[in-house]
Amino acid sequence: MTDERVRAGLTHEEDLSLLHEVSMKTAGVSRLEMCIQCGTCGGSCPAAQDMDHTPRMLFAMLRAGMREEVLRSNTQWICVSCYHCVVRCPQEVHIADVMYTLKGMAIKEKLYENSTAPDFSQTFVDMVETYGRSFEMGLASRHYLKHFPLRLPGMMPMGLGMIIKGRMALIPKKIKQMDQLTKILDHAKQLEMTS
Ligand code: SF4
Ligand code: SF4
Repeated sequence: MTDERVRAGLTHEEDLSLLHEVSMKTAGVSRLEMCIQCGTCGGSCPAAQDMDHTPRMLFAMLRAGMREEVLRSNTQWICVSCYHCVVRCPQEVHIADVMYTLKGMAIKEKLYENSTAPDFSQTFVDMVETYGRSFEMGLASRHYLKHFPLRLPGMMPMGLGMIIKGRMALIPKKIKQMDQLTKILDHAKQLEMTS
């Protein structure tokens, strides 16, 4: 048995409950069950070399019910949502959307090795819930202060240039009819709790 087969969960008995759970939690139709393990996704992925497991391997592990190993993988955090794999997948599996589902599950179950990316996601969500949009200045300051404080001074010239050229706001501005977005987000949270 090769290391790759062990890492990909192919030594485990098939247990489709996790695969179905992830599929159900993915927005729209995931087509996860249609994966034929061809490997086109990993071969197309610009970030694959930094991933613990290629998308193909991750989906094999899902099929094997390897919950903790899948949710602890860095793969979903390394994915940059370029959708290259999605357009090339012969089975039209919605790979990038599945990655978002896995991120959400890992955050909920606190199964991640490095909190940098989950914290960034949470900060982004906080901004959207507060202002209805991203506030780059706040996002970058909060993130860098918490995780990379020593890099902040080096970021300042770029930030200042963006502010001067009007590419980044100094003060956050809420979208119009924020109350309607809040209702939508509340409803989405309720649906998530009951799913
Ligand atoms: S390209 Fe599609 S079918 Fe092939 S391994 Fe990846 S997800 Fe599965
Ligand atoms: S969407 Fe994610 S997994 Fe797919 S090719 Fe891009 S980085 Fe890789």
